[in-house]
Amino acid sequence: MRVIKQISKLQLNLLNQKKIGKKVHLIPTMGALHDGHISLVKSAKAKKAIRIVSIFVNPDQFSPNEDLNKYPSTIKHDLKLLKKERVDIVFLPNKDEIKKYKIKYKIPNLSIENKLCGKTRPHFFPGVKKIVTKLFDIIEPDKSFFGEKDYQQYLVIKELCKKMKRKTVIVKCRTIRDQKGLALSSRNNYLNEKEKKMAQKINQLVKQFLPFFRKNLKVGTGTQMLKKDLYKHGIDSIDYLKIFTEQLTTRKKLNDKCRLFIAVKIGSTRLIDNYKI
Ligand code: AMP
Repeated sequence: MRVIKQISKLQLNLLNQKKIGKKVHLIPTMGALHDGHISLVKSAKAKKAIRIVSIFVNPDQFSPNEDLNKYPSTIKHDLKLLKKERVDIVFLPNKDEIKKYKIKYKIPNLSIENKLCGKTRPHFFPGVKKIVTKLFDIIEPDKSFFGEKDYQQYLVIKELCKKMKRKTVIVKCRTIRDQKGLALSSRNNYLNEKEKKMAQKINQLVKQFLPFFRKNLKVGTGTQMLKKDLYKHGIDSIDYLKIFTEQLTTRKKLNDKCRLFIAVKIGSTRLIDNYKI
């Protein structure tokens, strides 16, 4: 496993790999790796491909009042995990070099950016699009792997690639959860024991309502009841609790493929998740 920080070094290395017919599979992350990230790394394994994991806490996707400065960093542990998975390259971009890296074209606005997380965190998707565009420009991956856990982000990146006519295939990987159903997230590190129990409870409560949402188009009362239950169990605030189709459009028919999207705050920790209906 090679750990590379410099863009030109990475590009030279990739050139050599591509010359001998290797495909390139990229897994972008912000580090503090857990089994969710590792499942992406495993999905990206292929005989004729090398795997690159990038670790970069992207300042552009945090607003000034968010958790950039306390975002967990466990680089030694991360490298150990990735070595165990036999990852080929870990790209640890230098903050200044990546900041200076120029994108030569305009990044398009996408309508799906303005919903859900885009409403409360308007800086988030522009920041994500910028870093992913830079990584894709530098690496030109054949495939890139993203978690269903951040479903809207997956859609944004897929849409971005389509609009930019990129050849990179965006692969969606299923959400990995703990034994109690809590979706693994680097931000779970912020939760104390009591808060973690609350977070685990969300899964249980949401699941009770899924059959109702499956069978009903009018879900207003159901979502109100679920919200009430969530507050009763100590959730501090609910940013959104919405049902949309898998393209983030309004559900019209009962058999439209849909998901329930949820974002909550427990203490000062913001958690997001989504469930197939
Ligand atoms: P992050 O480091 O949080 O930016 O996440 C990097 C990638 O890992 C993103 O594509 C996430 O969607 C994915 N990811 C994070 N948590 C999970 C999880 N619990 N299960 C599957 N993928 C995940």
